[in-house]
Amino acid sequence: MTDSFIAGFAPPPDDGGPAWWFIYCQDKLLVTRDGPPRLPLVRRASELGLELDAPRYLGLWQGRPCYVAWAPGQAPPPAGYDWHGLYGLALGWPEALTALGGRAKQILAWEKRNRFCGACAAPMADDPKERARRCPRCGLVAYPRVSPAVIVAVRRRDKVLLGRSPRFAPGRMSVLAGFVEPGETLEQTVARELAEEVGVQVEDIRYVASQPWPFPDSLMIGFTCQWAGGEINIDGEEIVEAGWYGPGELPRIPPRSTIARQLIDLVIGDSAELDPGGGWR
Ligand SMILES: [Zn+2]
Repeated sequence: MTDSFIAGFAPPPDDGGPAWWFIYCQDKLLVTRDGPPRLPLVRRASELGLELDAPRYLGLWQGRPCYVAWAPGQAPPPAGYDWHGLYGLALGWPEALTALGGRAKQILAWEKRNRFCGACAAPMADDPKERARRCPRCGLVAYPRVSPAVIVAVRRRDKVLLGRSPRFAPGRMSVLAGFVEPGETLEQTVARELAEEVGVQVEDIRYVASQPWPFPDSLMIGFTCQWAGGEINIDGEEIVEAGWYGPGELPRIPPRSTIARQLIDLVIGDSAELDPGGGWR
């Protein structure tokens, strides 16, 4: 048995054993209700009493096949199960399993958005050789989309720049992030986002790490950089509050499972001792 995931799109022969099921209802995943949330491990989805649209094979996880499927819009969960948001599950799940849940969700969403050709409107079909949808009429090929976004921790002496998006609850702050635009390098995106959203200039932009972010289909590419000039002047739309925070004066920041938190810890020192839980502290 292995914890590694082996991607594939043709299922292995049925050996009579169970499979992992990533079943999404809208944007929530089916997991067990009592105890730590676990994925259904059953041979067929019908054992769960669910009517599913054409399940998709995803690959092998811990040596068992993984399938992904949508449940109908308002489907009640089977007895002993519940629908749960992936972001919440990420707090208690190993990173590899969360990533797999995100992969499953992105593939389902991609397929739903590519039922018809974007060029000629003919129904699209699965490509037999790779994870792609192909138009039988005009030949257009659609691959699962990943939208790159930068996320950046700006250092000014011993402080880090944190901001609040209007999507965050009051009191919650994080490092800034933004989508890459066509024609930009990642470093240019970092400089542009910071100038646009908070009016600061930066230098010494350095890549740190990346994290898939399936909300809905991003890849977060993490950087640190140094403040080089400009005082905070928020744009009031993307960012409604921002400031410089040192180690002893942090507001509520994202959980340790996020790249945002890794970047904050890197700039102001490990804040782990402040966070015995795992959620926003
Ligand atoms: Zn077409």
